Amino acid sequence: MSARVLVVGAGPAGLSAAISLLLRGVPVTVVDKAAAPHTHPKAVVLWPRALEVFERLGVAEALVAGGHPLTSQHYHSNGTRVASLTFRMLRHTKYRYALAIPQHVTERVLRERLTGLGGTIRANTELTALRQDATAVTATLTDLSTGEHTEEVHDWVIGADGVRSAVRTAIGVEFTGQTYEQTFLLSDGPCETDLATDAAHYFMTDTGVLVVVPLPGGQWRAFISAPREIPEGEALAATVERVTAARSPVPVRFLDGHTAGRFRIHRRAAEQVWRGRVFLVGDAAHAHSPAGAQGINTGVEDATSLAWRLAGVCLGSSSAADSGRVFAEWAAERHQVVRNVLRDTDLQTRLWGVRGLRRRLRDLVLSGAERTTLLDRVVTPRQTQIDQRYRTAPGRARPVSAGVLRSHARLPNVAIPTTATGTAHLHDFLSMAGPVSLRFDPVGTPGRRTEVRRSTDPETGFDVVSLTGPALRSALGISRRVACLVRPDGIVAAVASHTALETEGEVLR
Ligand SMILES: Cc1cc2nc3c(=O)[nH]c(=O)nc-3n(C[C@H](O)[C@H](O)[C@H](O)COP(=O)(O)OP(=O)(O)OC[C@H]3O[C@@H](n4cnc5c(N)ncnc54)[C@H](O)[C@@H]3O)c2cc1C
Repeated sequence: MSARVLVVGAGPAGLSAAISLLLRGVPVTVVDKAAAPHTHPKAVVLWPRALEVFERLGVAEALVAGGHPLTSQHYHSNGTRVASLTFRMLRHTKYRYALAIPQHVTERVLRERLTGLGGTIRANTELTALRQDATAVTATLTDLSTGEHTEEVHDWVIGADGVRSAVRTAIGVEFTGQTYEQTFLLSDGPCETDLATDAAHYFMTDTGVLVVVPLPGGQWRAFISAPREIPEGEALAATVERVTAARSPVPVRFLDGHTAGRFRIHRRAAEQVWRGRVFLVGDAAHAHSPAGAQGINTGVEDATSLAWRLAGVCLGSSSAADSGRVFAEWAAERHQVVRNVLRDTDLQTRLWGVRGLRRRLRDLVLSGAERTTLLDRVVTPRQTQIDQRYRTAPGRARPVSAGVLRSHARLPNVAIPTTATGTAHLHDFLSMAGPVSLRFDPVGTPGRRTEVRRSTDPETGFDVVSLTGPALRSALGISRRVACLVRPDGIVAAVASHTALETEGEVLR
C-alpha cells in the first residue's frame, strides 16, 4: 500500500504540501480544526518566488487573476518620502511585481486546486495527540462536532498547524524567541484616497508606523503600530482610521465596510523542523513580524521543498537509508532561510520605530541606497526571495557558476527564443516528478532560435532537456557546453559539464 501522509492544518502551507504530494500521486489526509474556511484579514502580499512556486502547483494564473499587482514600495519618514523600492532591476522571473491578494482568497484558490486533484479537507477535526516510533506515527484526531477521539496510523505527518502548533508541542520541539512588546492593529475595507494604487506605502513617524496597501476590488489594508492610548469604547476600525489620518500626509478616508483586528507579533523559530517521521512547516516552524511580508511566502516554500523529497521517499525513489540524508538536507536549508527571514523582518520592524539621530541616520541610509540603486539591485531580490540560494552542506561540492546558472541557487527563469514554441522559459522544463537535467549547447546548431529536444537519461531515469543554439550565449551568459541538474523546487543541484552531472544524479535519486 502507498505511504500515508497526514497534513495537519489547511492554511497556505498545509494546502501547498498536500497539493504537491497529490501531484506526485502520494495520497494525503488533510485535517483542520476550523469548521469552515476563515475570512480573517491576514497576509496580503505574495512575492515573485511564491508565485513561481504556485505556478508549479497550477494555481498562479487563478491567483494573478484574483490579485492586484504592486510595482513599488514607498517609504516616508515623518511625512517626507525617503526611498522607494521597485522591481525594475528584477531579472529572469515572469513576476516583476508583488501580488496583493487577501490570504483567504489565496486559500480558496488552493482549496479548489486540492479538491480538483481529488483531495479533501476534514474540517472540525483537531489533532490532539501524536506519538511516533521508527515505523509509524499515531495521531489522535478529535471530531469537534461530536467530541469523539479516533486514533489513526500514518507513515508521515506534516505539522502545518500554525503558530500554536499542537504537532510541534506533541513532538517536544521548543519554539524559541520573543514576542514583541508592541501591539499592531489593522483594518481592511474600501477607502477614498489619492495614494497610488500600484504601490505599498510605509509611513514611519515619531508616533509609530502606518502601512497602507491597495488590495483588489478597490479595498485597502491599513496596518498600524497601536498608539499608546486608545479611548475606551473606540471601535478598532475607528482607531485605525484616526491613526491613519494622523500618520499619512495624504488623506485616507475609510468608507463603510471595514473589518479590523489586533495582534501581537513574534520572532520565534522551532528548534527542529524534522523529528523522526514528523515535519514542521509554515508558522508552525517560524513566526515573524509581517514587516517584509514573508510569512506565507516562506511557508509555501517550506512545504513544497519538503513535499518533493517526501514523495521520493513515499514512492520508493529514495531508499530508506537515503531518507535521513534527504530530510536532513531539507531541514538544514530551511533553518538557513528562516534565520535570514527572522533577521531581515526583525531589522525592518526595529527600523520602523527609531527616533532622533537614529531616525535621521536611517533616512540617510535609505535615500543613499535608493540613489545608488542598492535597494532595487539587492534588497528587492532578497525580499522577493528571487535571489534564493543555499549554503553548501558539509561534504558537498562548493557552488559552481556558469553565466547566470549557479548551483544551490534558484534556477533563473530565463526566456529563450525557441524554434518550436516561440519563447520558452527555463521553469517550463521543471518537473514535479523529479530532477531534470538541462543541457545547454551554445556552440551547436547555428541560427537565432534555440532547438529543444527531450529525452530520458538511461542511467538515472531523469528527464533530459537539451537546448542548442547560439542565443544561449547571451540569454545565459555561457560560451561553452554546460549542464545543470534542477530539483523539482527549482533549485539547481549541480552545474557542470554534460557528463560530470551523473555523479550528482546519484545524490538526488
Ligand atoms: C496581520 C497579518 C499580516 C500578514 N501579512 C503577511 C503578508 O503580507 N505576507 C505573508 O507572506 N505573510 C503575512 N502574514 C503571515 C501569514 O498570515 C502566515 O504566515 C500564514 O497564515 C501562515 O500559514 P500556515 O499555513 O503556516 O498557518 P495558518 O495560516 O495559521 O494555518 C494553520 C491552520 O491549522 C489549523 N490548526 C491549528 N491547530 C490545529 C490542530 N491542532 N489540528 C488541526 N488543525 C489545526 C488552523 O485552523 C489553520 O487553518 C501576516 C499575518 C498577519 C497576522
